[in-house]
Amino acid sequence: MRKTVAIIGAGLGGLSAAITLAYNGYQVKVFEKNSHAGGKLVGVTSGSYNFDFGPNTITMPHVFRSVIEETNVDPNDYFTFLKLETHTRNHFHDGTSFEMSTSSEAIVEQLSRLDPYAARKFPEYLAETKRIYELANDQFFYRSFASFKDYLAPDLTKAFFKVRPFQSLDRFHQNYFHNEQIIKAFNRYATYIGSSPYLTPATFSLITYLELVDGVFFAKGGNKTIADGFLKRAEELGVEFFFNTTVKKIHTKNKLATALTLANGEMIEANYIIANGDLITTYKNLLSESERPHFRDKKIDKLEPSISAFVLLVGLKKRLPNLIHHQVYFGANYKQEFVDIFTKGNYSLDPTIYICNSSYTDPTLSPDGDNLFILVNAPATSRDGSLQVNPQQYKQRIYQILEEKGLSLKDHIAFEEVITPLDIQNKFFAHRGALYGLASNRMLNAFLRPANRSKDIENVYFCGGSTHPGGGSPMVVISGQNVAKQIINI
Ligand SMILES: Cc1cc2nc3c(=O)[nH]c(=O)nc-3n(C[C@H](O)[C@H](O)[C@H](O)COP(=O)(O)OP(=O)(O)OC[C@H]3O[C@@H](n4cnc5c(N)ncnc54)[C@H](O)[C@@H]3O)c2cc1C
Repeated sequence: MRKTVAIIGAGLGGLSAAITLAYNGYQVKVFEKNSHAGGKLVGVTSGSYNFDFGPNTITMPHVFRSVIEETNVDPNDYFTFLKLETHTRNHFHDGTSFEMSTSSEAIVEQLSRLDPYAARKFPEYLAETKRIYELANDQFFYRSFASFKDYLAPDLTKAFFKVRPFQSLDRFHQNYFHNEQIIKAFNRYATYIGSSPYLTPATFSLITYLELVDGVFFAKGGNKTIADGFLKRAEELGVEFFFNTTVKKIHTKNKLATALTLANGEMIEANYIIANGDLITTYKNLLSESERPHFRDKKIDKLEPSISAFVLLVGLKKRLPNLIHHQVYFGANYKQEFVDIFTKGNYSLDPTIYICNSSYTDPTLSPDGDNLFILVNAPATSRDGSLQVNPQQYKQRIYQILEEKGLSLKDHIAFEEVITPLDIQNKFFAHRGALYGLASNRMLNAFLRPANRSKDIENVYFCGGSTHPGGGSPMVVISGQNVAKQIINI
């Protein structure tokens, strides 16, 4: 008889696990509280305006493609990636700007004007980030972690000491750059894993390699087409999806999960359970404390959530000049923003503002004007689950800052939606609205993310941004495949 797997959540992690398991003969059912597949990668449409909420910056396209490829079909039939050459324009408060590009010549040309020391050091810097990326890719990303012993494998330990785990990302960057503005631009990559560059290990400079060598990509028709493609392939392979269906409980007997209870009271039996939703919410809400001695509430309460986001989706009546696909408007004191967010749990009053205008690459997404996804890093919601800011006032503050920086939006708005950390918490069951589960601000958090297999219940597995190998959509997709392959034992 075919073994059955029940997956809680149709995020990118759950979808990738479902495809790999179904292709290998497992009977797979996916239960998703929302009405769409893709979790945080969700399209938002209003009139002629189409936006991607969630991942706007896509790296490592081979990861998404390989999920489909491994099932013996052509990924191009499911989604197509476009490479963005000069992808991100960084605007600094002193009026200078710096463009991120996969052309090293273009980077060095800018550095020779803005930071001559860095212009000389740049090839060395890129080579070091490549070395770190390759080690992480070989030794870290594709392993599943079930127990502490797995972390002590000799090749992994050896690799660990070679990826600069004890130096902060900011400190590492000081070795290669002298211009404080340029350092900010490279330090910002720490936010891709929901962390502070002044605390997170230099290991994450591997993101520089991805963005400046491997490239930044956009899926034709919107990044949500990746989720659509995954859903299509999963359904072709016989995966059954149950949308608008919340899982309320995981039942266990003798340290084995036996079934799920759905919100309507129905019981679903399964040989294996994969939780794709946030690990902390899943443990807290679906298992009683006595069933999870390794993950008691006291331990959970001490964990530091990753960064969250305050997002504005803004459709404009016109196209603004000077916007490219990605741009960042830095505040004057970048370090203070992280103190505000992580130490004080506050919203910055002079935040760095990221804007994605995907209609720059694909005008069909919003033919009547720009489709702006505006994101400001935000603290996780407070411990009692409430928001620390008045969303309408904070929105006005963001518009005011952009206006001061020469980007006047207010008079051209045709559509506007505000999405707060509280919305992220409620819509995706994300613990305190965190985007990537736990922060990687401490060396141990960065490397010892919660394991992919429960220590307490043998047949319960976890995939997604709150577990190994980390937040960020390619890592999440890898985690789904890692878990599926662990179950299949390949
Ligand atoms: C604003 C924002 C910007 C981002 N930007 C980027 C970016 O530029 N690049 C990048 O790579 N990544 C980015 N990310 C991160 C990326 O979106 C996530 O890493 C990834 O999509 C998470 O996928 P997942 O499978 O882990 O979880 P999710 O997408 O959270 O999916 C989990 C699913 O499980 C469901 N679920 C949970 N509990 C239950 C339950 N009890 N019953 C039923 N269903 C349940 C949830 O509804 C959800 O749909 C961003 C995220 C956000 C929110």
